[in-house]
Amino acid sequence: MITCREMVDLLSDYVDGDLEPMVARQLAAHLRGCTDCTAFLRTFKGTQALVREAACEEMPEELKVRLRDFLRSNLQRGRSRSTN
Ligand SMILES: [Zn+2]
Repeated sequence: MITCREMVDLLSDYVDGDLEPMVARQLAAHLRGCTDCTAFLRTFKGTQALVREAACEEMPEELKVRLRDFLRSNLQRGRSRSTN
């Protein structure tokens, strides 16, 4: 089972279609059950589309790393907020 943290690590490969089919399926299953990660994926794709439009090329590695850090800190905030 893929965790939210693993999900963030795999997100860019998932969007690029670089994941093994089995991993991609697990990731898609996680996305169906996790609204947080669904929102992250949307943010990630939106950012990537903007970058592609602006630069007509792949998202720079540095930006990928920064975006991952951003998503990670969001996840941590979400966890400490923990409502139930
Ligand atoms: Zn998740």
